[in-house]
Amino acid sequence: MVGSLEQVAQAIRAYNKFLITWHVDPDPDCVGSGLALKQALQAMGKDVICVSPDPLGEWFEFLPGIESCAVFTEGFSPHVDAVIVEDCEPDRCGGLVSYLKSGVPIINIDHHGTNLGFGQAFYINPRAAATGEIIYQLLTEYLHVSLTEAMATNLYAALAGDTGTFRYSNTNSRVLAAASELVKHGANPAEIAVHLYENRAYEEVDFLRAALDTLEISPRGEMSWITVTKTMLGERQWSGQRSEDLIKYPRMIKTVKLAIMFRELDAAKTKVSFRSRDNIDASKLAALFGGGGHMHAAGCTIDKPLPEAKAMVLEAAAELLAASPGNGSE
Ligand code: AMP
Ligand code: MN
Repeated sequence: MVGSLEQVAQAIRAYNKFLITWHVDPDPDCVGSGLALKQALQAMGKDVICVSPDPLGEWFEFLPGIESCAVFTEGFSPHVDAVIVEDCEPDRCGGLVSYLKSGVPIINIDHHGTNLGFGQAFYINPRAAATGEIIYQLLTEYLHVSLTEAMATNLYAALAGDTGTFRYSNTNSRVLAAASELVKHGANPAEIAVHLYENRAYEEVDFLRAALDTLEISPRGEMSWITVTKTMLGERQWSGQRSEDLIKYPRMIKTVKLAIMFRELDAAKTKVSFRSRDNIDASKLAALFGGGGHMHAAGCTIDKPLPEAKAMVLEAAAELLAASPGNGSE
């Protein structure tokens, strides 16, 4: 754990005009956390805008207040007292990075252990299942905001998003207790689950056909991967897809300790997602390629064409598996 939530609360109390932002490739945790925080700060009489570095796919539309979120465009440089960067470090904010380096005060809130903490106030707690869990604690214990149904729905979606709706190894009594409180304040678990998992366009499910066709597995069965190329995506926009949707297939194979997804972003850029089990540290693997994340879920973007990036990552992954106790070739 680095920094202090009290310091973050003090900085929030001290300023009036905020911009809230998060990482590229947004997910329900960063967006739900950002919206709930915005709504809470507005209830405290603050002036707040949320700006996403990347477009928000249709699947975020159920989050209350999403229509008020702006998407970054070139030349964007609003005057605010402070920027709250949540669920990532400032370097992962895409087009907003140069604005964040212009000297504007930064408050950084995150749960990625690979984040060392940035800005004049920060709180990084890798033990939190989601950034939404930290925001929940900030609002209830430090800022004493009364939770509205909108805030509860956004925070529940954040927790559900990062815990696979309370199934992953980061699910514990603390996060379940927070979820229970959020339900008391109006979050509807069944409705949120439908929006997260059962509200797909036909094209998205159809795309699985092509994606599953690329499924591969290592000879010993401990590593499996899936590959998405630009050609496969065709006219489809990635913003309609979720990495979780695809990587869950290699991950669900019972012998697999490390699941990987390769996604061709362009001719010279590849996004890699990692999911692991047991003692396999996916964040270490991602860090080798300039990325980061959590022990069991991590990612990186490599400035190499897909075939090259894939070869490098598979080699490093095989080495990691061989070096991990219980997985090496005996
Ligand atoms: P993804 O595979 O993109 O869904 O990401 C898995 C986890 O790793 C999420 O918690 C992401 O926030 C995190 N992550 C992905 N890419 C990076 C990166 N380049 N740096 C740090 N964390 C990342
Ligand atoms: Mn998160």
